[in-house]
Order: sequence, then C-alpha cells, then structure tokens
Amino acid sequence: MSHSSSTIGIVGAGIGGLAAAIALRRAGHDVIVFEQARQFARVGADINLTPNAVRALDGLGVGEAARVTAARPSHRISRSYDSGEETSRLEMAEAAEQRYGAPQLTIHRADLLAALTEAVPAESIQLGKRAQSIVQDAGGVTVRSEDGSESRVDALLGADGIHSAVRTAMFGAESPRFTGIVAYRAVVPAERVAGVPNLGAFTKWWGPNPQSQIVTFPLNRGKDVFIFATTAQDTWHLESWTAPGSVEELRAQYADYHAEARALLDACDSVLKTALYERDPMPAWTQGRMALLGDAAHPMLPFMAQGAGMAIEDAVVLARHLEGVDAAGLPAALQRYERARLDRTSRVQLGSRGNNWLRDGGNADWVYGYDAWAEPLAAEEES
Ligand code: FAD
Repeated sequence: MSHSSSTIGIVGAGIGGLAAAIALRRAGHDVIVFEQARQFARVGADINLTPNAVRALDGLGVGEAARVTAARPSHRISRSYDSGEETSRLEMAEAAEQRYGAPQLTIHRADLLAALTEAVPAESIQLGKRAQSIVQDAGGVTVRSEDGSESRVDALLGADGIHSAVRTAMFGAESPRFTGIVAYRAVVPAERVAGVPNLGAFTKWWGPNPQSQIVTFPLNRGKDVFIFATTAQDTWHLESWTAPGSVEELRAQYADYHAEARALLDACDSVLKTALYERDPMPAWTQGRMALLGDAAHPMLPFMAQGAGMAIEDAVVLARHLEGVDAAGLPAALQRYERARLDRTSRVQLGSRGNNWLRDGGNADWVYGYDAWAEPLAAEEES
C-alpha cells in the first residue's frame, strides 16, 4: 500500500496559506510555504471575522490565541447614513455562539497572522522566497524563486493573493480590475468618543450610493474603535496597507452623514487609504497538481467582510479532501476541493460586489452557519 503523506508546496504565508499549512499538516502531509517577504511585518488593519471564519479557525486550534486580543462585537447593526434609522440588527456574541457555534471576532490582522504562524513549525516556512517560475509535469511541480533556488513538490497551492503568480502560471496574465472605490481606515481610542452609542457593536452606515459606507467596530478588546469607510473615487489607484490619506478629505467625503458617524471621523488623528480591486469568479482554479485558494482564487470587495473567512474555509475544506490521499491521487483530490468550494465563493464574491448584505434585516445563516469542518466532501467524479 502506498504511503499517503505527500509534500505540498504553498506559495504565500498570508491568512489563507498559513491556514492551509496548519490544516494540511494535521491531515498528515509535509508542507513547505514559500513567502516573498523577508520577515513578518506588522502591517494592515483590523479584520472582521464572522462566525463561519471563527469556527474554521477554532478547528485549526488557533481560535484561542486569536481571542487574546480580539473584540467580540455585541451586535451587527445597519443604519441609514442621514436619518440614522436602524434598518437591521442581529445579535452577535453569545447569540451567534449559540446559533453558529462561534462568535464574531474583530482582530488586528497582524495578531491573526501571528496566531497562525505560531501553529506552523518555523522550518516549514521559507521567507524571502518569491516564486517566479512554476512548472508542473505528471509527477510534481518545480518552483523556482527569484533568488534562483528550486524546490520540487507533489502539489502546489497558490495562496499568493490578488496578484497571484501561481494563478498567472496556470491561466495566463490578467490584471485585477480597479473598482473605482477607495477605502479609508482609521483607529480612534474609545474613551475619546465615549458619548457615541453602540461602540461595542459592528455598525454599518449605508450611504447615498452603493459605494459609500462607514463601518465601525471595536478593536483591542474594545479599547479602540476601528473605522472602515469607502467611497467612489477613481483618481486614486494605489493599493496599499500603509499609504496615508488625509483626515480633512475623509471628513469632507462624509459631511452629509449622521452626527454620530461624523463624531467618529472628527476624532481621527490619522487615516490610511487604499484603492479596492477585484476580479470575476473563475470557472475553475485547479490544473493538474496545482490549485488556488483565498484571494488568489476569488478576490472580492470587503462589503461582506468575507475575504479572509473564505480563505480560511478554503484551507480547511482543501485539507479535508487531501486527507489520506497519496501523491498519485492529488490531482483528483484537488478537483474535488474545487468542486466543493466554487459555488459558495463565487456567490460571496458576487454578493460582495452587489453590496446589499444585511442592509434590511435578512438571514445571515447561509454565510455564518457554514461549517468548513462538517460540510459534505465532494464525491469522486463519475467516469
Ligand atoms: P494575502 O493576505 O494577500 O496573502 C498573500 C501572501 O502571499 C502575502 O504574504 C504575500 O507576500 C505572498 N506572496 C505574493 N506573491 C508571492 C510570490 N510570488 N511568492 C511568494 N509569496 C508571495 N476579509 C475579511 O474576512 N474581513 C474583513 O473585515 C476584511 N477587510 C478587508 C479590508 C480591506 C481594505 C481589504 C483590501 C481586504 C479586506 N479583507 C477582509 C480581505 C482579506 O484581507 C483578504 O481576503 C485576505 O487577506 C486574503 O488572504 P490570502 O492569504 O488569500 O492573501
């Protein structure tokens, strides 16, 4: 009988790549992660993990570490930007825990990355390896990095984000599309805005057009408030986690918003600004011994807060399909993973573009109630 442990290469040590490394090791495989960065840097902002994402993380054994700095929003509220009228309110925290088996958590993405990195042995992650040339044959995949080093693996996963080199190697070059939307991100100490109600909740202020919104939620166990605001603006194309914006511009963009929303913007000392890019859903993301996951496969607008969640779900479902599979069986197992995930991720990708999620009431179960650890596995393809 053949040995079922294979060596799986993963390009990208982001949220999806690290989650896949943990899940695949638990499924009995050897893993090598190739990450272009020379060291892990503390960049980015706060990230909203809905119950489906937290349940997937809990199964990876990372949930506890993630909870150390995370906040647990009490509710998920939608409000009209001008009147302030509440158009939907879902109870989160304990209620979500009871309904979905996990709460919603809001956490700095660097803390989430640190929790994931802790769970992968250091020798499985190769830093300073920017995958440049990727060639597969019937027996495996050869990855060559920019520094000239080469590795041979039984299968290769592209978890290298929206500008994925693995995706380009598989399907050819095609640039992500600028959506004409920019996002501002800022953090305000909660004590500075203590008079504003609902600071412990996730609140989305729906603006005068589908591109305009302000989202606020607790950060650092409630010590801070995170502000995530978007608006249509096609003069700014820079995609960056670190580029500064102007607080005056931020305030001017939302001058017609309700006083409670404006009070938060007035309290900001600084703001970061990024352009938002996306792609269409793919008809397929597997090819022989190679497959994509996370943003490499399905980059989406942040309006449903599901990008990281989908990457973590992908990782879990992928590893479940590869458990007990030997090197010869990897191409078929990767196809089954794709089949199990494509419909859901495409639906969320298009739903994020539509930006109507939970605007007026609505039932969150199909997104929040998904259990990546229990969803049925895709069956063998009939021949
Ligand atoms: P990434 O996080 O992009 O990681 C890719 C990794 O691959 C990086 O470490 C990169 O250095 C590495 N890499 C790239 N190319 C190479 C190469 N050639 N060789 C080696 N390494 C390479 N999601 C949520 O769930 N909730 C939110 O609230 C939320 N808010 C967001 C707000 C904004 C403004 C944006 C832009 C996104 C938001 N997202 C959110 C989405 C989320 O950030 C992404 O979906 C998530 O980071 C995707 O993870 P990933 O691992 O697929 O890719």
